[in-house]
Amino acid sequence: MQARILRPMSAKPFPRISVKPSSAGSGVWCDEPVAAGCTVLEFDGAVRTTPARYSVQVGADAHIHPDDSAVMTQDPSRFRWRFLNHSCAPTCRVEGRRLVALRDLAAGEELTFDYNATEWSMAEPFTCLCGACGGSVVRGFAHLDAVARAQRSGWIAEHLLERMAHADA
Ligand SMILES: [Zn+2]
Repeated sequence: MQARILRPMSAKPFPRISVKPSSAGSGVWCDEPVAAGCTVLEFDGAVRTTPARYSVQVGADAHIHPDDSAVMTQDPSRFRWRFLNHSCAPTCRVEGRRLVALRDLAAGEELTFDYNATEWSMAEPFTCLCGACGGSVVRGFAHLDAVARAQRSGWIAEHLLERMAHADA
């Protein structure tokens, strides 16, 4: 399988963030305020054509993966994006390989995104504990009904919108 290592695309400094323990195991928080629309971080890693537990879908057939050694050692200083928790009421969205604030965030807010709005069909579905949805099973966009898709209209990833457009054509 071909794997390509990506480097950050912009030299602009990102806000300071921290990986900390959470009720979900670990999570990522911003350490300083972030304005709506600002990039919080860029997803780095190897792009593969298939999903796995810690991958994030960034294109029609593109899934970005953390390095396996970082996952095995649970090293919180590398691929910090893999500690981002899912939420059905997220604070951020994924645009290409960037995590972007959906609204103004205060220092100390948890950074989350909606896995249902990036993944077409998840490798490892799980029951959501976000508190906003009453415990739905997160399985990916393919498994959402029209109402659940419409609720996510503000943060659906571009590659899912394109896939929907082709399905409607
Ligand atoms: Zn939820």
